[in-house]
Amino acid sequence: MSDQTAILDRYGLIGYPVKHSKSPVIHKLFADQSDQQMTYELLSARPEDLENAVRKFQRNGGRGLNVTVPHKAAVTRLVDEMSEEASIAGAVNTLAISPEKIVGHNTDGVGLVRDITTNWKYEVLNKRILVLGAGGAAQGIQGTLLALDPSLITIANRSIAKAEALAGHFGMLGNVEAKRFTEVNKLEPFDLVINATSAGVKGEQAPFPRAAIAAKTVCYDLSYGFSETPFITWAKSLEAETTRSGWGMLIEQAAESFKIWRDVLPDTAPVLKQLPVT
Ligand code: NDP
Repeated sequence: MSDQTAILDRYGLIGYPVKHSKSPVIHKLFADQSDQQMTYELLSARPEDLENAVRKFQRNGGRGLNVTVPHKAAVTRLVDEMSEEASIAGAVNTLAISPEKIVGHNTDGVGLVRDITTNWKYEVLNKRILVLGAGGAAQGIQGTLLALDPSLITIANRSIAKAEALAGHFGMLGNVEAKRFTEVNKLEPFDLVINATSAGVKGEQAPFPRAAIAAKTVCYDLSYGFSETPFITWAKSLEAETTRSGWGMLIEQAAESFKIWRDVLPDTAPVLKQLPVT
Protein backbone atom coordinates (compact mmCIF):
# COMPACT_ATOMS: atom_id res chain seq x y z
CA MET A 1 0.00 0.00 0.00
CA SER A 2 1.46 3.39 -0.99
CA ASP A 3 1.65 6.30 1.49
CA GLN A 4 -1.06 8.08 -0.45
CA THR A 5 -3.41 5.07 -0.45
CA ALA A 6 -2.87 4.69 3.31
CA ILE A 7 -4.52 8.03 4.05
CA LEU A 8 -7.50 7.61 1.72
CA ASP A 9 -10.86 6.40 3.06
CA ARG A 10 -11.60 2.86 1.89
CA TYR A 11 -14.83 1.74 0.25
CA GLY A 12 -15.69 -1.21 -1.95
CA LEU A 13 -18.10 -3.78 -3.31
CA ILE A 14 -18.48 -7.24 -1.77
CA GLY A 15 -20.13 -10.07 -3.70
CA TYR A 16 -19.46 -13.27 -5.60
CA PRO A 17 -18.56 -12.81 -8.38
CA VAL A 18 -17.57 -9.12 -8.54
CA LYS A 19 -14.86 -8.90 -11.14
CA HIS A 20 -17.08 -7.50 -13.94
CA SER A 21 -18.58 -4.76 -11.75
CA LYS A 22 -18.77 -1.18 -13.07
CA SER A 23 -19.05 0.24 -9.53
CA PRO A 24 -15.33 1.18 -9.19
CA VAL A 25 -15.59 3.32 -12.35
CA ILE A 26 -18.81 4.98 -11.20
CA HIS A 27 -17.50 5.78 -7.70
CA LYS A 28 -14.21 7.09 -9.14
CA LEU A 29 -16.20 9.50 -11.33
CA PHE A 30 -18.28 10.58 -8.29
CA ALA A 31 -15.13 11.05 -6.14
CA ASP A 32 -13.34 13.07 -8.83
CA GLN A 33 -16.41 15.23 -9.35
CA SER A 34 -16.71 16.12 -5.64
CA ASP A 35 -12.99 16.00 -4.78
CA GLN A 36 -13.40 13.20 -2.24
CA GLN A 37 -10.26 11.42 -1.03
CA MET A 38 -11.25 7.77 -1.22
CA THR A 39 -10.55 4.40 -2.79
CA TYR A 40 -13.06 1.80 -4.04
CA GLU A 41 -12.04 -1.84 -4.34
CA LEU A 42 -13.64 -5.16 -5.27
CA LEU A 43 -13.93 -7.84 -2.56
CA SER A 44 -14.78 -11.31 -3.82
CA ALA A 45 -16.24 -13.40 -0.97
CA ARG A 46 -18.08 -16.71 -1.11
CA PRO A 47 -21.15 -16.96 1.17
CA GLU A 48 -19.21 -18.88 3.84
CA ASP A 49 -16.53 -16.13 3.92
CA LEU A 50 -18.89 -13.13 4.06
CA GLU A 51 -18.68 -12.42 7.79
CA ASN A 52 -14.88 -12.76 7.96
CA ALA A 53 -14.43 -10.51 4.93
CA VAL A 54 -16.71 -7.77 6.31
CA ARG A 55 -15.15 -7.89 9.82
CA LYS A 56 -11.62 -7.78 8.37
CA PHE A 57 -12.55 -4.78 6.21
CA GLN A 58 -13.96 -3.06 9.33
CA ARG A 59 -10.85 -3.88 11.43
CA ASN A 60 -8.62 -2.48 8.68
CA GLY A 61 -10.41 0.87 8.74
CA GLY A 62 -12.86 0.34 5.86
CA ARG A 63 -15.65 2.95 5.86
CA GLY A 64 -18.29 1.45 3.60
CA LEU A 65 -19.27 -1.40 1.30
CA ASN A 66 -21.77 -1.98 -1.43
CA VAL A 67 -23.22 -5.48 -1.23
CA THR A 68 -24.27 -7.50 -4.25
CA VAL A 69 -25.40 -11.00 -5.23
CA PRO A 70 -25.56 -13.33 -3.34
CA HIS A 71 -25.15 -11.48 -0.01
CA LYS A 72 -27.95 -8.88 0.16
CA ALA A 73 -30.14 -10.92 2.52
CA ALA A 74 -27.37 -12.70 4.46
CA VAL A 75 -25.56 -9.48 5.33
CA THR A 76 -28.58 -8.27 7.34
CA ARG A 77 -27.39 -10.66 10.09
CA LEU A 78 -24.09 -8.77 10.43
CA VAL A 79 -25.41 -5.23 10.84
CA ASP A 80 -25.96 -3.43 14.15
CA GLU A 81 -28.67 -1.15 12.75
CA MET A 82 -30.83 -1.03 9.61
CA SER A 83 -32.23 2.02 7.83
CA GLU A 84 -36.00 2.17 7.29
CA GLU A 85 -35.61 1.32 3.56
CA ALA A 86 -33.46 -1.71 4.38
CA SER A 87 -35.89 -2.89 7.07
CA ILE A 88 -38.85 -2.62 4.68
CA ALA A 89 -36.92 -4.38 1.91
CA GLY A 90 -35.48 -7.04 4.22
CA ALA A 91 -32.24 -6.68 2.24
CA VAL A 92 -29.11 -4.54 2.40
CA ASN A 93 -26.99 -3.27 -0.50
CA THR A 94 -24.92 -0.63 1.36
CA LEU A 95 -22.98 -0.79 4.62
CA ALA A 96 -21.83 2.34 6.47
CA ILE A 97 -18.95 1.15 8.64
CA SER A 98 -17.21 2.65 11.67
CA PRO A 99 -15.01 0.91 14.24
CA GLU A 100 -18.02 0.78 16.62
CA LYS A 101 -20.85 -0.31 14.35
CA ILE A 102 -22.16 -1.31 10.92
CA VAL A 103 -25.36 0.25 9.60
CA GLY A 104 -27.23 -1.46 6.73
CA HIS A 105 -29.02 0.56 4.04
CA ASN A 106 -30.83 -0.30 0.82
CA THR A 107 -30.47 2.14 -2.08
CA ASP A 108 -31.82 -0.11 -4.89
CA GLY A 109 -35.38 1.16 -4.55
CA VAL A 110 -34.36 4.82 -4.43
CA GLY A 111 -32.06 4.21 -7.41
CA LEU A 112 -34.83 2.72 -9.54
CA VAL A 113 -37.42 5.32 -8.59
CA ARG A 114 -35.02 8.22 -9.19
CA ASP A 115 -34.16 6.86 -12.62
CA ILE A 116 -37.80 6.35 -13.55
CA THR A 117 -39.23 9.56 -12.11
CA THR A 118 -36.35 12.09 -12.33
CA ASN A 119 -34.28 10.97 -15.31
CA TRP A 120 -37.12 9.46 -17.29
CA LYS A 121 -39.95 11.75 -16.03
CA TYR A 122 -42.35 8.82 -15.79
CA GLU A 123 -45.30 9.15 -13.39
CA VAL A 124 -46.04 5.99 -11.38
CA LEU A 125 -49.21 7.28 -9.66
CA ASN A 126 -52.25 5.09 -10.48
CA LYS A 127 -50.30 2.95 -12.97
CA ARG A 128 -50.64 -0.85 -13.21
CA ILE A 129 -47.17 -2.31 -12.79
CA LEU A 130 -45.94 -5.81 -13.56
CA VAL A 131 -42.70 -6.89 -11.85
CA LEU A 132 -41.16 -9.99 -13.44
CA GLY A 133 -39.07 -11.84 -10.84
CA ALA A 134 -39.19 -12.19 -7.06
CA GLY A 135 -35.51 -12.29 -6.10
CA GLY A 136 -33.44 -9.80 -4.11
CA ALA A 137 -33.78 -6.96 -6.60
CA ALA A 138 -37.56 -7.34 -6.87
CA GLN A 139 -37.73 -7.32 -3.07
CA GLY A 140 -35.56 -4.19 -2.82
CA ILE A 141 -37.75 -2.09 -5.12
CA GLN A 142 -41.28 -2.93 -3.90
CA GLY A 143 -41.41 -0.51 -0.95
CA THR A 144 -40.26 2.58 -2.85
CA LEU A 145 -42.50 1.75 -5.85
CA LEU A 146 -45.53 1.34 -3.58
CA ALA A 147 -44.75 4.68 -1.92
CA LEU A 148 -45.54 6.30 -5.32
CA ASP A 149 -49.12 4.92 -5.20
CA PRO A 150 -49.46 2.75 -8.30
CA SER A 151 -52.97 1.29 -8.60
CA LEU A 152 -51.54 -2.28 -8.58
CA ILE A 153 -48.26 -4.19 -8.53
CA THR A 154 -48.48 -7.70 -9.94
CA ILE A 155 -45.42 -9.82 -9.13
CA ALA A 156 -44.93 -12.72 -11.54
CA ASN A 157 -42.27 -15.31 -10.92
CA ARG A 158 -41.25 -18.73 -12.17
CA SER A 159 -41.41 -20.03 -8.57
CA ILE A 160 -44.86 -18.84 -7.51
CA ALA A 161 -44.14 -19.35 -3.78
CA LYS A 162 -41.51 -16.58 -3.86
CA ALA A 163 -43.91 -14.18 -5.59
CA GLU A 164 -46.60 -15.01 -3.02
CA ALA A 165 -44.18 -14.42 -0.16
CA LEU A 166 -43.26 -10.97 -1.55
CA ALA A 167 -46.91 -10.07 -2.17
CA GLY A 168 -47.71 -11.10 1.40
CA HIS A 169 -44.80 -9.10 2.83
CA PHE A 170 -45.59 -5.88 0.91
CA GLY A 171 -49.40 -6.22 0.84
CA MET A 172 -49.75 -3.94 3.88
CA LEU A 173 -48.17 -1.07 1.88
CA GLY A 174 -50.47 -1.21 -1.15
CA ASN A 175 -52.31 -3.31 -3.72
CA VAL A 176 -49.93 -6.20 -4.51
CA GLU A 177 -50.74 -9.61 -6.00
CA ALA A 178 -48.74 -12.67 -7.09
CA LYS A 179 -49.26 -14.49 -10.40
CA ARG A 180 -47.65 -17.16 -12.52
CA PHE A 181 -46.35 -16.06 -15.94
CA THR A 182 -49.12 -18.06 -17.60
CA GLU A 183 -51.79 -16.32 -15.50
CA VAL A 184 -50.49 -12.89 -16.55
CA ASN A 185 -51.23 -13.83 -20.16
CA LYS A 186 -54.94 -13.76 -19.24
CA LEU A 187 -54.77 -10.19 -17.84
CA GLU A 188 -55.01 -6.77 -19.51
CA PRO A 189 -51.69 -5.29 -20.72
CA PHE A 190 -49.78 -3.29 -18.09
CA ASP A 191 -48.66 0.36 -18.08
CA LEU A 192 -45.16 -0.42 -16.81
CA VAL A 193 -43.36 -3.77 -16.97
CA ILE A 194 -40.15 -4.14 -14.93
CA ASN A 195 -37.86 -7.08 -15.55
CA ALA A 196 -36.21 -8.02 -12.25
CA THR A 197 -35.16 -11.53 -13.27
CA SER A 198 -31.59 -12.58 -13.94
CA ALA A 199 -32.62 -14.77 -16.90
CA GLY A 200 -31.04 -12.50 -19.52
CA VAL A 201 -27.68 -12.07 -17.80
CA LYS A 202 -27.51 -15.86 -17.41
CA GLY A 203 -28.23 -16.30 -21.13
CA GLU A 204 -31.51 -18.08 -20.41
CA GLN A 205 -34.83 -17.72 -22.22
CA ALA A 206 -37.60 -16.80 -19.76
CA PRO A 207 -41.26 -17.57 -20.56
CA PHE A 208 -42.32 -13.94 -20.14
CA PRO A 209 -46.03 -13.21 -20.69
CA ARG A 210 -46.52 -11.57 -24.10
CA ALA A 211 -50.02 -10.33 -23.24
CA ALA A 212 -48.53 -7.98 -20.60
CA ILE A 213 -47.22 -5.67 -23.32
CA ALA A 214 -49.23 -3.44 -25.63
CA ALA A 215 -48.39 -0.29 -27.60
CA LYS A 216 -48.90 1.91 -24.50
CA THR A 217 -46.59 -0.19 -22.26
CA VAL A 218 -43.25 1.11 -21.08
CA CYS A 219 -40.63 -1.49 -20.20
CA TYR A 220 -37.72 -1.25 -17.77
CA ASP A 221 -35.00 -3.87 -17.48
CA LEU A 222 -33.03 -3.84 -14.21
CA SER A 223 -30.33 -5.73 -16.10
CA TYR A 224 -27.89 -3.82 -18.27
CA GLY A 225 -25.11 -4.57 -20.68
CA PHE A 226 -22.98 -3.12 -23.44
CA SER A 227 -25.47 -4.37 -25.99
CA GLU A 228 -29.26 -4.53 -25.90
CA THR A 229 -30.56 -6.89 -23.23
CA PRO A 230 -32.74 -9.88 -24.27
CA PHE A 231 -35.74 -8.46 -22.35
CA ILE A 232 -35.50 -5.15 -24.22
CA THR A 233 -35.18 -6.95 -27.56
CA TRP A 234 -38.29 -8.97 -26.63
CA ALA A 235 -40.23 -5.86 -25.51
CA LYS A 236 -39.35 -4.03 -28.73
CA SER A 237 -40.50 -7.02 -30.79
CA LEU A 238 -43.92 -6.58 -29.11
CA GLU A 239 -43.84 -2.86 -29.97
CA ALA A 240 -43.71 -1.56 -26.41
CA GLU A 241 -43.88 2.23 -26.29
CA THR A 242 -40.52 2.81 -24.58
CA THR A 243 -37.72 0.66 -23.23
CA ARG A 244 -34.96 1.41 -20.79
CA SER A 245 -32.14 -0.66 -19.28
CA GLY A 246 -30.81 -0.68 -15.71
CA TRP A 247 -27.74 1.55 -16.26
CA GLY A 248 -29.62 4.54 -14.83
CA MET A 249 -30.66 2.60 -11.73
CA LEU A 250 -27.11 1.32 -11.27
CA ILE A 251 -25.76 4.88 -11.27
CA GLU A 252 -28.56 6.31 -9.11
CA GLN A 253 -28.28 3.60 -6.43
CA ALA A 254 -24.51 4.18 -6.39
CA ALA A 255 -25.08 7.93 -5.97
CA GLU A 256 -27.34 7.28 -2.98
CA SER A 257 -24.69 5.03 -1.39
CA PHE A 258 -22.10 7.75 -2.01
CA LYS A 259 -24.41 10.25 -0.27
CA ILE A 260 -24.73 7.93 2.76
CA TRP A 261 -20.93 7.58 3.00
CA ARG A 262 -19.70 11.08 2.09
CA ASP A 263 -22.77 13.29 2.67
CA VAL A 264 -22.52 14.53 -0.93
CA LEU A 265 -25.11 13.60 -3.58
CA PRO A 266 -23.18 13.33 -6.86
CA ASP A 267 -24.46 14.82 -10.10
CA THR A 268 -25.39 11.66 -12.00
CA ALA A 269 -26.10 13.32 -15.38
CA PRO A 270 -22.46 13.50 -16.57
CA VAL A 271 -21.83 9.93 -15.39
CA LEU A 272 -24.95 8.69 -17.23
CA LYS A 273 -23.63 10.39 -20.37
CA GLN A 274 -20.38 8.43 -20.16
CA LEU A 275 -22.13 5.04 -20.03
CA PRO A 276 -24.01 3.29 -22.82
CA VAL A 277 -27.53 3.91 -21.52
CA THR A 278 -30.04 2.32 -23.90
P1 NDP B 1 -31.78 -13.14 -7.64
O1 NDP B 1 -30.85 -14.25 -7.93
O2 NDP B 1 -32.08 -12.77 -6.24
O3 NDP B 1 -33.22 -13.42 -8.35
C1 NDP B 1 -33.27 -13.88 -9.68
C2 NDP B 1 -34.71 -13.84 -10.19
O4 NDP B 1 -34.69 -14.17 -11.58
C3 NDP B 1 -35.66 -14.83 -9.51
O5 NDP B 1 -36.95 -14.28 -9.45
C4 NDP B 1 -35.63 -16.01 -10.49
O6 NDP B 1 -36.80 -16.82 -10.47
C5 NDP B 1 -35.57 -15.28 -11.80
N1 NDP B 1 -35.03 -16.10 -12.89
C6 NDP B 1 -33.75 -16.51 -13.04
N2 NDP B 1 -33.62 -17.24 -14.16
C7 NDP B 1 -34.85 -17.30 -14.73
C8 NDP B 1 -35.37 -17.91 -15.91
N3 NDP B 1 -34.58 -18.62 -16.73
N4 NDP B 1 -36.69 -17.77 -16.19
C9 NDP B 1 -37.48 -17.06 -15.36
N5 NDP B 1 -37.07 -16.46 -14.23
C10 NDP B 1 -35.75 -16.58 -13.92
O7 NDP B 1 -31.18 -11.89 -8.46
P2 NDP B 1 -31.43 -10.34 -8.15
O8 NDP B 1 -32.86 -10.17 -7.82
O9 NDP B 1 -30.44 -9.83 -7.19
O10 NDP B 1 -31.08 -9.67 -9.56
C11 NDP B 1 -31.96 -9.76 -10.68
C12 NDP B 1 -31.41 -8.92 -11.82
O11 NDP B 1 -31.46 -7.53 -11.48
C13 NDP B 1 -29.96 -9.23 -12.16
O12 NDP B 1 -29.82 -9.29 -13.56
C14 NDP B 1 -29.18 -8.03 -11.61
O13 NDP B 1 -28.04 -7.73 -12.37
C15 NDP B 1 -30.22 -6.91 -11.77
N6 NDP B 1 -30.00 -5.82 -10.81
C16 NDP B 1 -29.75 -4.57 -11.30
C17 NDP B 1 -29.53 -3.51 -10.45
C18 NDP B 1 -29.26 -2.17 -11.03
O14 NDP B 1 -28.79 -1.28 -10.28
N7 NDP B 1 -29.55 -1.92 -12.29
C19 NDP B 1 -29.56 -3.67 -8.98
C20 NDP B 1 -29.88 -5.02 -8.56
C21 NDP B 1 -30.06 -6.06 -9.46
P3 NDP B 1 -36.93 -18.07 -9.44
O15 NDP B 1 -37.30 -17.45 -8.13
O16 NDP B 1 -38.02 -18.88 -10.03
O17 NDP B 1 -35.59 -18.74 -9.42
